[in-house]
Amino acid sequence: MPTTADFERMLRGAKLRVTRPRVAVLTAVHDHPHADTDSILGVVRADLGTVSHQAVYDVLRALTGAGLLRRIEPPGSVARYEARVGDNHHHVVCRSCGALDDVDCAVGTAPCLTASDDHGFTIDEAEVIYWGTCPACSTAPSS
Ligand SMILES: [Zn+2]
Ligand SMILES: [Zn+2]
Repeated sequence: MPTTADFERMLRGAKLRVTRPRVAVLTAVHDHPHADTDSILGVVRADLGTVSHQAVYDVLRALTGAGLLRRIEPPGSVARYEARVGDNHHHVVCRSCGALDDVDCAVGTAPCLTASDDHGFTIDEAEVIYWGTCPACSTAPSS
């Protein structure tokens, strides 16, 4: 588990000033992968006391912009954040309850990840979301 010193090092490495809210948000997202803004706010408040929604939102934006956090926003869902960055992994999302989990990069040949026509773009990421029904929802009695 990374320590506060590790998170401070990550911030400095990304040329961001080390502040308590930034360290608290990094720690919260690391401990609660795929948390939404409100959950992160709750964890950060439990840690630091009073912090405004806007402050946490600004920190999330700065950390995402610096590449320390990744923002995931499946259509129809609120934005979630995770500290697992840089490996281009994918997500599986439950259509019913919105549960979300990590899926490692598609194995084998994945022709759909290679654009048939890149329109002249330099492509560095393919975002894949697998939609389905999570185990809890598929075993729940339908009402
Ligand atoms: Zn579900
Ligand atoms: Zn993830």
